[in-house]
Amino acid sequence: MDPLSLLVGAGIAVTGFLAGRFGGRRRTAERPELPEPVCTCGHGLAYHDQESQACHGLVKTPVEFDKVYGAVDFEMRQCTCRRYVGPVALETFYAPEITD
Ligand SMILES: [Zn+2]
Ligand SMILES: [Zn+2]
Repeated sequence: MDPLSLLVGAGIAVTGFLAGRFGGRRRTAERPELPEPVCTCGHGLAYHDQESQACHGLVKTPVEFDKVYGAVDFEMRQCTCRRYVGPVALETFYAPEITD
């Protein structure tokens, strides 16, 4: 076996090892973020009107279809959601004042 191909082989092995190491480390370094509370429509509470509860978010709606490829053209349309039904963070709960 000639020394050059041995060297190349070792280099590939080291590169693969380092790539795996760094990739793994980057993943574990990421803090596990809490999932953002979202409504069933896919929009967060902020998108929903406080009074009417209607959602102001936009949804990608397919407007043109192709027999082979399916939806080929999309339009951003206002969400049809009428009320936020997702989880509500504790601090956003409205605590009524006791006036007794
Ligand atoms: Zn909604
Ligand atoms: Zn929505």
